Amino acid sequence: MDLKLVHTAVDAYAKGASRSDAARLRFFEGLFDIQQQRADLVAASDGYEVPAAPEAFELYRDNAPVFSKAPVTLDAAEFQKTCELLAAYLASEAGLADEAAQALAAYDWSMFVERADLALAGSDPALFIERMLQSISELDVPDDLPANVFMMVPAFALRAHLQPAAELVAKAARKGKPEDEPGRVHPVDCPICGTPSTASWVGAGAGSDGRGREQYCSMCGHQWEYERVRCGACGSTNQNKLHYKNLEGDSAHRLLTCDDCGGYQRVVFREELDPSCPMVMEVEDVVMAKLDQVALDPRFRNQ
Ligand SMILES: [Zn+2]
Ligand SMILES: [Zn+2]
Repeated sequence: MDLKLVHTAVDAYAKGASRSDAARLRFFEGLFDIQQQRADLVAASDGYEVPAAPEAFELYRDNAPVFSKAPVTLDAAEFQKTCELLAAYLASEAGLADEAAQALAAYDWSMFVERADLALAGSDPALFIERMLQSISELDVPDDLPANVFMMVPAFALRAHLQPAAELVAKAARKGKPEDEPGRVHPVDCPICGTPSTASWVGAGAGSDGRGREQYCSMCGHQWEYERVRCGACGSTNQNKLHYKNLEGDSAHRLLTCDDCGGYQRVVFREELDPSCPMVMEVEDVVMAKLDQVALDPRFRNQ
């Protein structure tokens, strides 16, 4: 993450936002600061053995995510520290109920790190989060602390510990790509960490022709080229079943819905954004949260 761009984008969005939206943006701005500081530290320790360029390209192009074949080794003590910092931040800044905030601040992350399968976290982070949620009863999470709030901490922490390796892999894969490599079908889920995409953007600078589309993964921060007309959830390319919708007055942020799988994706239209504001997908993800409410609204479903 480029924190300078993050701050510029947050400032721009916060200016015209309601009080609650501005507070939400500021909350995430602080969260991104912690994630990036921790990512810098992980990067500096340089523990990831990135495959050589030709191999990285082969791994990247393969059907299975790169981390499933070249996993990240998470440093347990550092991961614990990242969780502690994020838990303290969420407890004081996330606007949680008092009991939940106190429980989160008091939670013992050394126990979490002992019981968590960190090898799985470094090879299939989405499955790691799913498994931890399933076995939450074994983690001594107090009743006052909702499981989804609790799991935000390790999920946010993973970004800091996966992003440096994801950046190295992406760089090596770009370097290892042969000049005459033909076009290919792009993966639905993140080609590096295997997590379903968080959001998407289209417009200038996207894809190999510069007018395409890119998927964004919030788990590791990677962005990858994608077909312009294609469902981001199931991969369907059936034009008749894919529809764009947006909130009135905001054509820059749209929902791409799919009749095939019933899923949807939030898409940024770069050309429709305020040209003086940099596009930062981490911030766009926060801004587009209101589209999730639209997508889940039954009135919208019947349209
Ligand atoms: Zn990823
Ligand atoms: Zn679909």
